[in-house]
Amino acid sequence: MATYTPMIQQYLQVKAEYQDAFLFFRLGDFYEMFFEDAIKASQELEITLTSREGGTEERIPMCGVPYHSAPNYIEQLIEKGYKVAICEQTEDPKQAKGVVKREVVQLITPGTVMEGRGLHDKENNFLATITYFPDDAFGFAYNDLTTGEGRATLLSGNFDDVLNEISILGAKEVVIDSKFDMEWQKKLRDRNVRALSFEDQTEMDPTFRQLLETVTEDKVQKTVSRMFHYLYRTQKRSLDHLQPVKIYETKQFMKIDYFSKRNLELTETIRSKGKKGSLLWLLDETMTAMGGRQLKQWMERPLIDQKQIDRRHSVVELLIQNYFERQDIREKLKEVYDLERLAGRVAFGNVNARDLIQLKKSLTQIPPLREILLTFGNEITNRLADRLDPCEQVTDLLESAIVDHPPLSVKEGNMIRDGFNEELDRYRDASRNGKTWIAALERQEREKTGIKSLKIGYNRVFGYYIEVTRANLHLLEEGQYERKQTLTNAERFITPELKEKEALILQAEEKSGELEYEIFTQIRERVKEFIPNLQALAVAVSELDVLQCFAQVSEDRHYVKPIFSSERKIYIKEGRHPVVEKVLSAQEYVPNDCYMDNEREILLITGPNMSGKSTYMRQIALTAILAQVGCFVPASQITLPIFDQVFTRIGAADDLISGQSTFMVEMLEAKNAIVNATKNSLILFDEIGRGTSTYDGMALAQAIIEYIHEHIGAKTLFSTHYHELTVLEEELKNLKNIHVSAMEHNGKLVFLHKIKEGAADKSYGIHVAELAELPKELIKRANDLLNKLEQKQKAVELMEDAGVKEESQPSISSQTTTKVQEEKSVGIGQLSFFDEPKEGFKPVLEKEKKVLEQIKKLDILDLTPLQAMNTLYDLQKKLKN
Ligand code: ADP
Ligand code: MG
Repeated sequence: MATYTPMIQQYLQVKAEYQDAFLFFRLGDFYEMFFEDAIKASQELEITLTSREGGTEERIPMCGVPYHSAPNYIEQLIEKGYKVAICEQTEDPKQAKGVVKREVVQLITPGTVMEGRGLHDKENNFLATITYFPDDAFGFAYNDLTTGEGRATLLSGNFDDVLNEISILGAKEVVIDSKFDMEWQKKLRDRNVRALSFEDQTEMDPTFRQLLETVTEDKVQKTVSRMFHYLYRTQKRSLDHLQPVKIYETKQFMKIDYFSKRNLELTETIRSKGKKGSLLWLLDETMTAMGGRQLKQWMERPLIDQKQIDRRHSVVELLIQNYFERQDIREKLKEVYDLERLAGRVAFGNVNARDLIQLKKSLTQIPPLREILLTFGNEITNRLADRLDPCEQVTDLLESAIVDHPPLSVKEGNMIRDGFNEELDRYRDASRNGKTWIAALERQEREKTGIKSLKIGYNRVFGYYIEVTRANLHLLEEGQYERKQTLTNAERFITPELKEKEALILQAEEKSGELEYEIFTQIRERVKEFIPNLQALAVAVSELDVLQCFAQVSEDRHYVKPIFSSERKIYIKEGRHPVVEKVLSAQEYVPNDCYMDNEREILLITGPNMSGKSTYMRQIALTAILAQVGCFVPASQITLPIFDQVFTRIGAADDLISGQSTFMVEMLEAKNAIVNATKNSLILFDEIGRGTSTYDGMALAQAIIEYIHEHIGAKTLFSTHYHELTVLEEELKNLKNIHVSAMEHNGKLVFLHKIKEGAADKSYGIHVAELAELPKELIKRANDLLNKLEQKQKAVELMEDAGVKEESQPSISSQTTTKVQEEKSVGIGQLSFFDEPKEGFKPVLEKEKKVLEQIKKLDILDLTPLQAMNTLYDLQKKLKN
């Protein structure tokens, strides 16, 4: 290291502390990167890689970006999941002895960006923190640095619960301790966490003590402390906008796990991963960025407390009934700027005068919004109105201080109104007077010399000058003008008087520019004091925004208010799938009813492919979620229970996930539902079991249905293409068959999309193939094969009816196999469904295991030949029994 130049040594020292970040090292007007950083950055950012002398024989790889365009490059790196350490010169290069002092002033990470393209108006940017406690719990906390909101909870020791929270939040970055389990780290990355960061400090610290007042639980406190240590360590500044951490519990909300959320396409679609086509897309009629974020948060966590839900519904109803007031509210909301993020930027010190003007405009919308809410004379809206604090002191301050159209830059003046500050007014007078004087001088000179084209101009190098064209030079009086600059067609002169005025003007302008900046920072500090008020206002505004959004959508799309039943009854008349309906247009969509109660716990849905089974099931789940989020629902009449959880599982063939075996994924998802569901849950199983061979899949499907019927009692919709399962209706008392009807018309299949009672009578697979225009010859062959198979099946049934039982035929419907045979099915797998195991599949039986154990234990050298014979005889006898 000693051989490097001092500057490179300095670089290496700083870099040593920021191994996992790109170090943007300030050199004059550039941020430079060296060594590995330079090579990597030149690739990632597509900038030229150069090199420089560094004191050693080999040249040092280097690349750089101009400081004024750095934000753009930083954004690109952050988007890719990198971190960027900003290292600035912290002393004036002119004063420096030796190498200029440099320090990292901020570490920008995916979870702590404050501005740029990576931030979407209607999405939070969450950073999460996890602490594992080996006595089986996870401390969990999260924070959005742009808005300052933070929450924390204690989760069970099941890492899936942590992953669930991570997915709900869409956390970009997770802070953990340096010994955090590697397997878990990988799982976090699989959930699209861009950056994992390490922070080992978990002690409470005075810097953030007041943010933790509500946090009493020790484990949560440690986790939150870890988070704040990380934020302060990386941001290196006071973070005045951080809000006190709120404690939440996951059981206060309807639980929708990751798989279900994805399958239901609540906030993004499976295919494109975009918002378009999701339920959120359909619902988002919010007018503000804050409302957009709040809507997403509400959708991620539907309520289970009926009082809370009712409160939302009653405001939605009120807003539907009062159309004009609602439109007024929407108009006003449209003018409200992102108060939450603005508050964050005020705290960070990077707002400009234009932002403050937008803040003022936003705040002036608040009193009329209050007025409108108060006209309803409703208790809930009155309370909401009370929370709309217009922060008049801020409005007044900004109105009196800042001009209506300030420039972007805060360093060039022209932001502060005349009359706001006396000293500033004096400077401005001086400069204005000076300018008037100069204008007058120009007139006088023209008269005196008779040169009409004479003019007084200004440039940065020579200051004010008098310009006379070459042709008129002879008209000037000798000796009075000092020549300053010669142009092709003109000469420029100065006079002592002009210079004197110039000095006054420039001094006044410089002073007023400095003073304006100072006044501006004072104003910003004043606004800072109101950050908590602005944040509270932002929450109230966002709630109002989401509620008006629900009203708007509900009215536009003819939704109705749901009624909740405590008797676990579902009654939906003319229900629709909200998103499919929107895409198809209302005329084409066929509404369907749904009835479920304690005698109809499980509906088994059959029907041809493409008939609408999946759509029907999802529409019921989406309806339940909409209802519990506080929105009205797509139906003409509806009663629902309040569901504690919703599970959606889709047969693997529909859902191709790379990596894991798809059938394994299907089973893992099914397990999750079966283990966690209660009788207050809603389960959708869509063609479960189709990821494996027919008998295998059918057997599993049946066993799953029976298990739910016997042990869970959750409201369950089970669609299947195993027609054989429909006989279960006779054996499971709370299971009913329904089907989606289709019609054959001139040998072609017509989908009616209409749900009917009973099982579908025929498999329409071949007709679908025909619709898809497979070759005629192939279709004919399939029809022939089907006929043969059906005849064979009939023969078997006849024999069964006559009491003859064919040994190798699976008898899915027989009474003996419909009960859940837990003990047996654990040890011997599929055997309970087949009298004889399939070829190539020989499960190890209990007795075989015992024999194997015994063989293992034998000490051969200790046996006489005769003893060995006897032992072998014994073992064989055991196996034969
Ligand atoms: P399945 O699960 O039975 O194969 P889907 O539920 O995937 O069928 O539906 C197939 C298509 O049929 C959907 O993409 C949709 O366009 C249409 N569809 C489904 N239900 C309806 C309905 N109730 N009204 C009109 N079209 C529907
Ligand atoms: Mg389907």
